[in-house]
Amino acid sequence: MDTNKLAEVLKEKKEPAFRFKQICKAVFEDAIPSFLDISTISKKLRIELENEVNILPFKEKEVLISRNKKAIKALLELEDGNIIETVLLSPKEGTWSACISSQVGCALGCAFCATGKNGLVRDLSGDEITSQVLFWKQYLAKNKLPGQFSNIVYMGMGEPFLNWKNVKESLKVLIDEQFFNFGSRNIAVSTAGIIEGMEEFAKDFPQVNLAISLHFADDRKRDEFMPINKKHGLSDLRNFLQSYFQTNTRKVFIEYLLLGGVNDTKEDALQLAKFLKSIGKMQLIHVNLIRYNSIGENLHSSSKEVVKRFKDDLERERVHCTIRKSMGEDIQGACGQLAGKAREDK
Ligand code: SF4
Repeated sequence: MDTNKLAEVLKEKKEPAFRFKQICKAVFEDAIPSFLDISTISKKLRIELENEVNILPFKEKEVLISRNKKAIKALLELEDGNIIETVLLSPKEGTWSACISSQVGCALGCAFCATGKNGLVRDLSGDEITSQVLFWKQYLAKNKLPGQFSNIVYMGMGEPFLNWKNVKESLKVLIDEQFFNFGSRNIAVSTAGIIEGMEEFAKDFPQVNLAISLHFADDRKRDEFMPINKKHGLSDLRNFLQSYFQTNTRKVFIEYLLLGGVNDTKEDALQLAKFLKSIGKMQLIHVNLIRYNSIGENLHSSSKEVVKRFKDDLERERVHCTIRKSMGEDIQGACGQLAGKAREDK
């Protein structure tokens, strides 16, 4: 919900100041989906707000639930007709985590990612970003799904640091007590490595987690699969992280997508360990190993055995790492599969 618009409308109607708080509580805390259902305000105001303010700036187009019910993907149609995707995940029994998008499409064109295939269409506004979280709050309430909605990750469509103004605004709203009231430490922003964006982020949100999609510890390979590396290469990432750790003691997450026969050999693991050690502060670096989810390209995922061997190789080099559980592959809701398209088999 656009809270600035709500404040403006209430001011025009000469409503008392407490009304804003009352409505925000109903919308953000109680996840009431319509002004018409807010029983603490007059009937007249309910109808007026329903006509003048949108609680959500998009319509639900489709919701897909994975077979194991641990991943739910929503396609949302924005007011201009563009479609974005967001995913709700339950990595642990009793907890929910939302993966949200920051742009329609993406300009970075990573070779393994469905989002980047058609380039960037436009940035999302701060309201369009935070409303994905509100959508899931409403969804959990409506479907009476038990569990705590505890985490937000900016790992959906788009590169958050290429839409920093609006992502910054959205982070403020997510942690603001009178709106979503999420803890900074329960939020993570993931980037392909936009140095200027990471620098601003480190200054403004030192408690919010940073995740870097590294995927390759070799400039030649990273250039080939992630064109952004030609601008911000591995030495830039190293320099940034070294200065980040001078003032911040929060762990940084390094995302590493394992592509069969491309970056999953023992040499790749040793090269990754070498790169991370060159940064220093190994105790503050955690590697998440991710199995590639096919998007129908020539690339394929590494076998489970290879992923396990890669992890062992890293651990022998004293790199902290975890194999991240892939969820939602059957609904094209897993990492790298968000394309902003409705199902074709409908
Ligand atoms: S992986 Fe991320 S940065 Fe790369 S194209 Fe996809 S959305 Fe953009």
